[in-house]
Amino acid sequence: MLDRYGRNINYLRISLTDRCNLRCVYCMPEEGIHQIPRTEILDTDEIVRVCRAASELGISKIKLTGGEPLVRKICIPLVKELKALPGISEVTLTTNGILLAEQLPELMKAGLDAVNISLDTLAAETFERITRRSALPQVLQGLEKALSYPSLKVKVNCVPTFQPEADLIQIAGLARENLLHVRFIEMMPIGLGKEFTARGEEQIKAVLERAYGSMTPTGERLGNGPCHYYTLENFQGRIGFISALSHKFCDSCNRVRLTSTGFLKGCLQFENGADLKALIRGGCSDETLKAAIEKVIYEKPAGHNFQEKKKGNEESHIMAQIGG
Ligand code: SAM
Ligand code: SF4
Repeated sequence: MLDRYGRNINYLRISLTDRCNLRCVYCMPEEGIHQIPRTEILDTDEIVRVCRAASELGISKIKLTGGEPLVRKICIPLVKELKALPGISEVTLTTNGILLAEQLPELMKAGLDAVNISLDTLAAETFERITRRSALPQVLQGLEKALSYPSLKVKVNCVPTFQPEADLIQIAGLARENLLHVRFIEMMPIGLGKEFTARGEEQIKAVLERAYGSMTPTGERLGNGPCHYYTLENFQGRIGFISALSHKFCDSCNRVRLTSTGFLKGCLQFENGADLKALIRGGCSDETLKAAIEKVIYEKPAGHNFQEKKKGNEESHIMAQIGG
């Protein structure tokens, strides 16, 4: 389905929960989180119902995210049910990797197509400073497990915050040693991210080129997102950048987002959208549900205004609640 600006919207990101087993400094506060009661969170049947309706409007790719999606028990059966929907070609997962090694065999049987593992550093001490937890070994086990399935597409996502340059070089090196892509995600001024200054793409690229030699843009589109990629000599995978501020990509945005409480959002930055949970729990027909989804897609905002003075109906939630 096309939105009012002619963009083809075929990708739905679903936050399964606002809960998480890490506390990344740019995403969640250490304490004082108001946890949403479980009864307020969509169950498997409700999520599948939204996805079925969305697939009839042209959504063909689904990403499960959070909070940490794997802390929710429904993740494995949900992947299976979503993969069985006609019209859904791809179900993927974004995870911090802690619970991945133990759950991946079942996720693979359920039909998972790809996994993005968020990993900001390979240095245990820096990992603990960023995530406020000492769980690096579990994440690395998760990554190793993911790489053991040749059919699974694997990416590593790194948000450059205060890691030393050596850590960024090491993380990028994962794409030299393994068949995976490493993407650097520019910090977005959403939730706690507002407290950080984004480290620009050019700066990171310069660091990596000093370490690994020149980076050549590929122009490829690998996956569903706005990432642009580079090849490097002797690298098995690519290095990518998702730079929402310095390389704004809203013109080609293809996604809408469902929060764990069943609110469908047209854009990460704005609170506009539709309360699908209220409709579903109020006993709405499939036609009504579809019409509500269609309206959110059609009215999707033109783009974020992170860098503009004039403000609108900005998102007040933290990233773990919206579903990064
Ligand atoms: N817990 C899972 C994980 O960490 O992969 C899924 C949810 S997390 C919110 C998804 C992604 O959003 C992570 O890669 C995280 O680093 C990123 N993220 C969180 N806050 C961000 C911010 N303010 N700007 C840019 N990326 C952010
Ligand atoms: Fe949890 Fe992911 Fe947010 Fe880190 S980025 S606190 S792992 S939801």
